[in-house]
Amino acid sequence: MLHIDISTLLIMDIVLGIVSSLVLTLLLRSTEQCPGVMLWVLGHWCVSIGLLFLFARFWIPMPVSVLLGNSIVSLSIAFYTFGFYRYHSLNIRKLSLAIFSFPVITFIAIGIALLEHATFTQRVILVDILMMAQISITIYLCFMRLEKFESARKFWAILLSMMFVGVIIRTILNLLTSHTQFLQTYNWSNVLMVILETTYLFAAAIFIPVIAAQKLQNQLLQYANHDEVTGLYNRHAMYKYADLTMTSVQHIHGHHAFLALIDIDHFKKVNDQYGHLIGDKVLRLIAGLIDSITRERDLVARFGGEEFLVLLPDQTPEQALTWANRTLKTISEHPIVVEDQHLFVTVSIGLAQLSEPIRTFDALIEKADCALYQAKDEGRNCVRLYQATS
Ligand code: GH3
Ligand code: MG
Ligand code: MG
Repeated sequence: MLHIDISTLLIMDIVLGIVSSLVLTLLLRSTEQCPGVMLWVLGHWCVSIGLLFLFARFWIPMPVSVLLGNSIVSLSIAFYTFGFYRYHSLNIRKLSLAIFSFPVITFIAIGIALLEHATFTQRVILVDILMMAQISITIYLCFMRLEKFESARKFWAILLSMMFVGVIIRTILNLLTSHTQFLQTYNWSNVLMVILETTYLFAAAIFIPVIAAQKLQNQLLQYANHDEVTGLYNRHAMYKYADLTMTSVQHIHGHHAFLALIDIDHFKKVNDQYGHLIGDKVLRLIAGLIDSITRERDLVARFGGEEFLVLLPDQTPEQALTWANRTLKTISEHPIVVEDQHLFVTVSIGLAQLSEPIRTFDALIEKADCALYQAKDEGRNCVRLYQATS
């Protein structure tokens, strides 16, 4: 049978854990933009130090090694969970006790098992049951209430499931084999443990910085493409996506794309009367209302000041006018609560159709602006469609 020195492999695992923890700490210590990542790094440290204690049973008293080793590994899962909640900006306060109770329970349970002189197999089963419970609860805590399934969650789902399956297999193998020379002999249980630990440490060391970088990139993209006050696309993003939309519209749907320029009526008065902060709140609310009336394929952006742009591909003039009138009605009838009063605001809308003489997005905006002027001139709180003669 192939002889594998399990001890050497374990030492290599510990070196891998400590070196990667050190590299992750140095690499990520200044990523305060990415909350939770340093807690994952702390978790990575805990796995490495936990393994170190477990392996050190040949040099330090066995009870110390078993007690600290397993409790610190359990603490690492707690840190991962904590980090996961911070990463998603979820409130963790109520769950902190539950999350950090596991390392304590593990410590107490193993302490009792040692005092009761439990056999090696009994101890392993106890530790594995505790780990399975902790991992199951962690998977549940991490994935409940979350709608999107993006890469950070996929990563933790894979890693935690891998841990879970590994623990089950290890329990079964421990029950099937009668060895007691844990960590010294070559057997499938120990080989599996080493393979799992190495894969786990490698995966975590690679993915933690990748997730951090991805989060930062997403944040930068969010800042670059979105308006800070309303969260809508900004002008830069609108130009970028409008060109794409206009090209596809011209090719696929003919010439039935419309641009709406929406301007809040007498917005200066809102600012003068209630101040800029309330003005911002009104902007956000109107932005939300406009966004809620549009379809998924429509593009909504803050054009600047109190003006919004909506690009509506694939519409007939009647449909575009119906949409614009519905927007007017929804906004004018929506009470905005300011200082215990109900404030009502109206908007004016200029509509322009993408048609043959209008080839660029700038030209389309110009036409919508003309129609908007007309709407303002003719009393506000109304829609005007750009006509070539207007
Ligand atoms: P009209 O019906 O003719 O459009 O009148 P108006 O008062 O809405 O138009 P005007 O262009 O005179 O004023 C626009 C105001 O929008 C002036 C500016 O203070 C305000 N404004 C622009 N950007 C912001 C912003 O980000 N936050 C707040 N609170 N106000 C803004
Ligand atoms: Mg304006
Ligand atoms: Mg205005």
